[in-house]
Formats: sequence, structure tokens, C-alpha cells
Amino acid sequence: MIRLDALTKVFATGRGDIASVSGVTLEVPAGATCVLLGPSGCGKTTTLRMINRLVTPTSGKVYIGGADTDSVDPVALRRTIGYVIQQIGLFPNMTVAQNIGVVPKLLRWDAARTRKRAEELLAMLALEPAQFMDRYPSELSGGQAQRVGVARALAADPPVLLMDEPFGAVDPVNREVIQDEFLRMQRSLKKTVLFVSHDIDEAVKVADCIAIFRAGRLEQFAPPDELLARPCNDFVAEFVGSDRTLKRLRRIHVSEVMEPAAVAADGAPRVRPGDDLRKVATLFLEHGVAALACVDEGGRVVGRVTRDAVASRLGV
Ligand code: ATP
Repeated sequence: MIRLDALTKVFATGRGDIASVSGVTLEVPAGATCVLLGPSGCGKTTTLRMINRLVTPTSGKVYIGGADTDSVDPVALRRTIGYVIQQIGLFPNMTVAQNIGVVPKLLRWDAARTRKRAEELLAMLALEPAQFMDRYPSELSGGQAQRVGVARALAADPPVLLMDEPFGAVDPVNREVIQDEFLRMQRSLKKTVLFVSHDIDEAVKVADCIAIFRAGRLEQFAPPDELLARPCNDFVAEFVGSDRTLKRLRRIHVSEVMEPAAVAADGAPRVRPGDDLRKVATLFLEHGVAALACVDEGGRVVGRVTRDAVASRLGV
């Protein structure tokens, strides 16, 4: 669990003070992914960097797992926190395996254990270890380099992962793929993740909770569905976009709106309980029907989903 309590940063510059982050209070449960979202310059990166003490707070507190991070040596603290940044800054003169092994080496792991960990992480991030372990960063695509960056941050199995626009430089198609891999990885590793983004679609896709910032202040902190359904003010509503109902569809699954049914209506299109409501809405429109059959992996009918149930879930 990470708790920020009235966290504040004022940068003193030759041209006066800059209030970068003002009184941010929020709590991210253990194993959850929180996305810090907002326009450029609103204080997202500064907030993230106060958590691993790359920036010293002016006032306020950061607690990790209940412990006040003020009481921990910053270097020791950073070894327990994975950190992924855009243009990851892999060491160009080190191989992929050596890059991933940087923190394990500091922690004096033996070579065999370090190499095994690198193999494990590369496989988890969809990079074939035999093919990638001994490459240099210049021999990787942007998306591959970002994956290695994530592997490096996870090497010593830190409970907390900070990610600053980790996929911002990856092209849109590969970004979707790498986001899917991140979600799959996070489902098994359950790290507590703080993830900076300025992309609402990315936030809706990966977040358990979203913190919307404006000019250093926290405007709203809520799960994606609640944020999209009930933005707390005009700024948040405008930031999340006028298509916020459509965005909500991606986060709601058929299982949440499914009604019992033993047989399917003739010709009704079929969906699975794990499908999201975007697929349902598309099928409603394509087929001009008011109900779809829900089937399990074996094709057995397990329920149905109706237009009314979807509308009622969305509150429209
Ligand atoms: P972006 O999305 O553009 O990366 P951000 O939301 O992450 O922006 P920050 O980088 O946290 O924003 O910056 C917040 C504010 O603090 C900005 O006004 C920025 O100019 C200011 N700031 C950040 N670092 C410093 C610094 N070292 N000295 C002075 N001002 C700073």
C-alpha cells in the first residue's frame, strides 16, 4: 500500500517559487495500479519522484506498506522500488542480461541466479530469452527496449513499481500490445504500481484507480468507471472527453450484466462472460438485436445480455 499525505513540492528558483505539487493525499491499495493523469506540467512526474526520493518533498509524507519513507535511507529505498521511465536509459555498453542484472548485482546475487531471473522476466515480457539476453540496447526496437526497461525494474522483485510514461514513445499499435503484456504480467505479479500518463485511453485500460491532476492539485481520485460516469467537475469531464460513455464500455464485462438463460434465441450472436461491453455494443448495432447469448468455452449457453441490462449498468 502507498499513501501520500498532503504531499507538497515547491521548487525555489532564481525567478521565484514554483508550486509543483500542492497537498496531494491519496492511498493506493497493495497490488493495485494507480494512473496519475493530467495535462503537461500538472505535477505528475514530481509526485512520482517524491515517492522514490529523487525529489525531496517540501512537506507532507509518503508511506509505503505503512512505513514512513522519511525514515529510510533514499538509496536503500530506491532498491525496493522499481522505476521505469520513457526512453528507458538502458546502459548502451551492457547487454540486455547485464542491464536487467544491475540491481541484483548491487544486492550481490550470484551470476547464475541473476541470469535465471533475467531469463524469467524476458519470457514474461514476451522476449525470447535465447534471442535477446546477449543483445545490446542498440539492437532492440523501441517496444523491445521498453520491455527490457520493465524487466530491469522488476529484477529484484520490488513490491512497488513507478512507471513514468513508460510506453509514451512506443507507436500506437505496439503500445496496445505492450499494455496488454503489462496487464497480464500485473495479474500474476500484483505489484503496487504508480503509472504516469497523459493518455486517458491508456489510463482507462490499465488503471484500478485514476488520479487526475490540475496545476499540482489532485482534482479527482476514483476507479475508471466512476471517474467516467461521474466526473467531479468541468475540468475532469473535459479531460476525460465527451465520449466517456463509450470509454466505460471497455472496462465493463459481460459477466457483470449477464442474466440467467438456459437457451439462446434463434440466431442470437454469442459473447463470452469475459468479453467487454464494446464488443456487446458492436454486436447490438451490427445485428440490430436486443439480446445476445452468453456462452462458455465449450459453447454452452450460460446466460444472456440485453440492451436494457447494458443501459441500466451505464445508468443511461
Ligand atoms: P509532463 O506531462 O509534461 O511530463 P508533469 O505533469 O509530469 O508534466 P512535472 O514534471 O511534475 O509535470 O512538473 C510540474 C511543474 O513543476 C511544472 O510547472 C514544472 O515546470 C515544475 N518543475 C518540475 N521540476 C522542476 C525543477 N527541478 N525546478 C523547477 N521547476 C520544476
